[in-house]
Order: sequence, then C-alpha cells, then structure tokens
Amino acid sequence: MKIISPYRNDQADWLRGNLHTHTTNSDGPLTPQATIDVYAGKGYDFLAITDHDTVSDLSGLDARGMALIPGNEITADGPHMLHIGATKRVAPDPNRQRVIDGIRADGGLSVFCHPNWESTFNHCPQEKLEQCVGYTGLEIFNGVTVWVEGNPYATDRWDRLLSRGRRIWGFADDDCHIETDLGVGWNVVQTDGERTAAAILDGLRDGRFYASTGVTVERIRAKKLTVEVRTREKAKITVIANHGRRMAVTEGKKLAFTVPPNPDFTYFRFECSGFGDRKAWTQPFFISRDE
Ligand SMILES: [Zn+2]
Ligand SMILES: [Zn+2]
Repeated sequence: MKIISPYRNDQADWLRGNLHTHTTNSDGPLTPQATIDVYAGKGYDFLAITDHDTVSDLSGLDARGMALIPGNEITADGPHMLHIGATKRVAPDPNRQRVIDGIRADGGLSVFCHPNWESTFNHCPQEKLEQCVGYTGLEIFNGVTVWVEGNPYATDRWDRLLSRGRRIWGFADDDCHIETDLGVGWNVVQTDGERTAAAILDGLRDGRFYASTGVTVERIRAKKLTVEVRTREKAKITVIANHGRRMAVTEGKKLAFTVPPNPDFTYFRFECSGFGDRKAWTQPFFISRDE
C-alpha cells in the first residue's frame, strides 16, 4: 500500500494565480490591461483571462511580470466550463463531452465552473459531472457565487466524484464580474522555479497545487503512509475522506495524518479553515493497494 501524492516534497516555488477572469471583452468590470494591473498589484504570479465564449488576444498587453494564460469560459448551451491554456476557441457544443474532448485536443485544461450556482443550487447537475470523463477538475470555490444565488462552495460535488474513484482537482477562482471580486479565490501551484505558462499548466494538470480563499499552506509533505500539512496562519485543519467523512481534525498550524492498516477509504484531502471565511484545500491523496 502506498500514498499517491500530487505534490513534490522538495518543492522550490509556490506560484499564485487566478484562472477565471472576466474583462470588458465580455461582462467583466475592467479592461484586460486594468485587470492585469490589479492582479499584478496584489502580487499574483499568473492570470488566465477567460471571457465568455471567446479567446481574448493577449498580445500587446503588459503582463506586469505575471505569466498570462489564454483562456475561454465556454458558456452557451450548457454548464459553464473553463478552457485554460487555449490556443483556439472551442465551440460551446451542448454535448459537454465534445467540449472536453476539444479542449484536450487543444492541450488545455477543462474545469467545470460554479456547479452550485443558481437558485436551484444546481447549475451543473451531478449526473453530468459523473457522465463526463477526461476533464481536469471543478471549481470548489467560485467568487461570484458569494453574492449571487447558490453556494460558492462545491466540495460536496467533489467528494461524491472522488468517492467514485474519479481523479479530478479542485480549483478556487474569482470569476470576477465586479471589482470587489478580484482577489477572493486563487490557486497556488508548485513549479521548479519556472514561471512560464507551460510550467504552470503542467503543475495544474498534475494536481501540484492547492486552492485558497485566504489560508496559506506552507508545506505539504508525504512520507510513506503519512502526509503532513503546515499552514502559515492558525487554522482548523480537517482530513476528509470518502463521502465527506472526517478522519482527523486539529486546531493549530500542522496536522500529520497516517493511513491506518486496511483503510476503508480510497482517498483523503486536507481542508484548512482560518479566520472568517478564509480557507485552503489541498488536492486529494489517493491510496494505492498495488504493493
Ligand atoms: Zn460562468
Ligand atoms: Zn465566469
């Protein structure tokens, strides 16, 4: 038995960025350049511009030191889906599996957006998340859903998928539609010191990142059957396994969790709750019984 960790114990750099960004190229609050200026001013390392059903031309913009990633939020005719790392526009086919396949063919990442948006709390039905295959992940936090109908969180959807053996990642994104949406949810990815869009996309694709709304994770280390997570701020750190079961909890800055012999769960993940609504979510660690 062993733990499959998406993280590197000896990671060099953590880079922070937002992957769901609207500008005046669709219904966002600021021009592309003004949007870049705000995120760069907050110390972000990367930014994906994802206007509705269009891939924005990023040439001629001053990246202000960030890695700019071209993207698109595929919106029409079905549940919204991010295409991150887009080289071309993928048509909003009502069959979202075709959209996912198109994004994969383009070498991009595909992320289902705000599943619990709308008065039904059901923008993307769970059956659709279960039927579709080959996508990168889903938004477990979406910033615009903080103040519109629905629930900004979707860890319930994620745990149901992970419990069925799916290997998908959880993202936290701003989805900015008004100026106060900029900087409420982000992703922090491990790279080898490379700050390029390609290196960041590789890290995201492999799950080498955590999602955050304010708690900083300083270290994630997997050794044999133990995973230790350290946060910068004091937090309530919870280990969650199949079907949302709480396996361990502590209040502090560190929690080490060891998988017991013959575990009756197939994955576990860490959720850190800090001051107010601030949180951080690690990606899941999977238990392999091959050896
Ligand atoms: Zn959307
Ligand atoms: Zn959006």
